[in-house]
Amino acid sequence: MVNAQLTAGICERLVNTTNQEEVDALYSSEPTVQILSIKKVGPTSGANAVDRYRIIVSDGEHFTQAMMATQLNHFVEEGLVGKNTIVIIEKFTSNFVQEKRLLIVLALRVVAQTNEKIGNPQGLQPPPGSEATTPAVTKPASTAAPSSAAAAASSSTLTIPSATTISTNRHPGQQNRGGKNPVIFPIEGLSPYQNNWTIKARVTQKSDIRTWANQRGEGKLFNVTLMDDSGEIRATGFNTVVDELYEKLQEGKVYFISKARVNLSKKKFNPTNNEYELSLERNTEIEECRDLTNIPVVHYNFTDLKNLGDLAKDSTCDVVGIVTEIGPTSELTSRFNKTIVKRELTIVDRSGFSVRLTLWGKQAQEFNPSSKAVIAWKNVKVGDFGGRSLSMMSTSMMEINPDIPEAHALRGWYDAGGSSSEFKSQTTSNFSGGSGAFNRDDIRFFNDVREAELGMHGDKAEYFSARGTIMHVRPENLAYPACQTQGCNKKVIEQHDGWRCERCDRSWDKPSYRYIVSMAVADHSGQAWLQGFNDAGQTVFNMTADELMEIKDRDDEKFNKIIEGTIGTQFNFTCRAKQETFNDQARVRYGIQKILPLDYKEEGKHLMALLSSDWAK
Ligand SMILES: [Zn+2]
Repeated sequence: MVNAQLTAGICERLVNTTNQEEVDALYSSEPTVQILSIKKVGPTSGANAVDRYRIIVSDGEHFTQAMMATQLNHFVEEGLVGKNTIVIIEKFTSNFVQEKRLLIVLALRVVAQTNEKIGNPQGLQPPPGSEATTPAVTKPASTAAPSSAAAAASSSTLTIPSATTISTNRHPGQQNRGGKNPVIFPIEGLSPYQNNWTIKARVTQKSDIRTWANQRGEGKLFNVTLMDDSGEIRATGFNTVVDELYEKLQEGKVYFISKARVNLSKKKFNPTNNEYELSLERNTEIEECRDLTNIPVVHYNFTDLKNLGDLAKDSTCDVVGIVTEIGPTSELTSRFNKTIVKRELTIVDRSGFSVRLTLWGKQAQEFNPSSKAVIAWKNVKVGDFGGRSLSMMSTSMMEINPDIPEAHALRGWYDAGGSSSEFKSQTTSNFSGGSGAFNRDDIRFFNDVREAELGMHGDKAEYFSARGTIMHVRPENLAYPACQTQGCNKKVIEQHDGWRCERCDRSWDKPSYRYIVSMAVADHSGQAWLQGFNDAGQTVFNMTADELMEIKDRDDEKFNKIIEGTIGTQFNFTCRAKQETFNDQARVRYGIQKILPLDYKEEGKHLMALLSSDWAK
């Protein structure tokens, strides 16, 4: 009776079916099988290797081997499946291991736990002649015990699709590549279902080596962007792979690459357009391609610097220019407290414009071309602060003196007199001229302010207008005791004869408190810490610092209520961004130059003006 539950003949069909349509149909058929044995297979190479389980499944007539995808490990580890468990295989696919098809179970559900093997299942014979013509063959196993088949599988390196890559095997017929003349796969064609592939790709970008440390341990990684004519893909190597491959993979060179693991792309960390990414492992094969025919070339689609104004913020473009100014390297501290090296270049082109372009990390440090070099960039990001600026990203590519017609034309033009042109700058960066007046037409978002590194362009302060909501006011040190002389504002110190001002050389019976406010202010884009003085405090709290300090002394609860009451209130600001060095780290301090409660009548008028100006167009 239990026997009837198993899907009769499924093992035989899985092993011997070669017709692609039938294979596809089998893979979506949800057969019921019994697990005859489970064996842990040690982790294969790779920094993130985990245990895997090889199972023998039976349909009551025959048995065959399969691997469980690692996302199913918990079934074994939690004892949900074991010997003689009856399961429905909800999803599966296959790989070719030593030219044998190996089933991979991607999803299953448990039907029943039984005490004994159902029927007397036998191993399977391969179909006659199939070994020579098709890779879809199992080990001749009619006499082999499951355990010896298990040993064969465990010595192989498997590529198991990750948890979310659930689909049927699309191209089992294309698997058996390799040998001396590998057929080159297009990058676009890579998927977790391809096993024996080789790509021929150019390294268009290589990251620095990054390290991490957390409770689970520490490690390092790097990544490269690989490109061929069909597309690009990100590849990442961890730990020992970094030692082996970091030096070997050079930007701009072309390599044959095979035996890397194809995973679903973690979009959050991967700016390439590919659905998948590669994990470089210890057995990944990489060979430099020295045959310079047919190598993938970078295709540029250059934008004239003159036209950068037409591009949206955060869009990307390709540019080719002559470097006219090379700034020094400078360090800045990122949001995550990491130190990043940057360098700013000025480039010009034949359109008569110049623009500032920022390099980061290794590329900033090692930038060393001869002066007035022609450089082509692919995929640089457009910024819109202070006019237009450009910035390299992890997926950008820089080619110095590239052998392309556009570069030769630019060189020729520049050397023949173009160098003496007047270039109009796309990057104005003239915020330092700000008077501190609030400008409703030029409100900047906090995240843009940070990304544009306002305040970090030299020693001058830069000003911007913003509108934000108070998220938090630091309640400590909200005010300091100051001298009562008009305009002195110096901090006074309590002594035996009262509060003494050094500057005025006199003592007061009591100080006059002045605010120093530090508060987190947010708009839809992000948050910034703003520092303000007495005016800011009076506007935010709507009382003098003396009044607030008096309340603080007398009634803690009321004081806390007042602080809390500021949260959620909105103001217009003029801010002053200026770099300061604190503990050897450069940070930008945002000072409140002006703070204005929202005047809804004015805001309304402004919105109406905006609307009518748009409608008039
Ligand atoms: Zn004084």
